[in-house]
Amino acid sequence: MKINNPQKICFVFDVDGTLTEPREEITNEMFDLFSSWSKDKQCFVSTGSDFEKTKEQIGQKTLNCFDLIFCCMGNETRNSSGEITRRVNFILEEELKSDLGKFLSESTFSYRTGNHIEPRTGMVNFSVVGRNASMEQRKDYSKWDNTQGERKAIANFINNKYPEMEASIGGSISIDIIKKGYDKGQIIHLLKDMGAQKLVYVGDKCFPGGNDYGVVRELKKSDLAFEWYNVSGPKDTLKLIKENAIFQEVRYNEKIIT
Ligand SMILES: [Mg+2]
Repeated sequence: MKINNPQKICFVFDVDGTLTEPREEITNEMFDLFSSWSKDKQCFVSTGSDFEKTKEQIGQKTLNCFDLIFCCMGNETRNSSGEITRRVNFILEEELKSDLGKFLSESTFSYRTGNHIEPRTGMVNFSVVGRNASMEQRKDYSKWDNTQGERKAIANFINNKYPEMEASIGGSISIDIIKKGYDKGQIIHLLKDMGAQKLVYVGDKCFPGGNDYGVVRELKKSDLAFEWYNVSGPKDTLKLIKENAIFQEVRYNEKIIT
């Protein structure tokens, strides 16, 4: 597939913490602004979640604003009606599976809710509190983890023991584990192969260890004209879209300052 217009900026948006609060639905305010703003833009989704969850979260109407949806950290590409155009396979090795089991039984967090190891396309998602946690329980774990640094420690352990793997903190309760290089950074190569020349990325975890970091890493290595924005939440994204000049493509014909 080729992108429609290589001269135009490709705007790429993370979902959790960027278009929506983590795991929450898109607000009317965001949908209204985004759907009118995106009409004459080339927009792409970059999420760690799968397509179904993304659809639940932002709705079909928002999906329609995007040219392509890069789900599962870029391991699956779909068009806005859900047709798969690319998919990467991932197999969880027994040794790593048993290490995750150990973390699960040895964590000092006080309860578990189930659904702790979730295989996804191209990756596995691991959560000590479990993906069945309610919104309240998610906040509970996230607050605890901020003081204990459990997810960081688990990610470091995996990264040291399995050099061919890469673990990173994703969302508010979990860790994403992928084969090295098969993170959101691959989206940059996919877009480049489609002819992209200018790219603007918006995410809430663009720092090393965050699940948007791969994008920044690959952008810096690429010859694309690019800018990236690390937002503190959807309110910040709204402000960017409304106020930042590049989102109005006023520098349409200029090389973007990198
Ligand atoms: Mg995010």
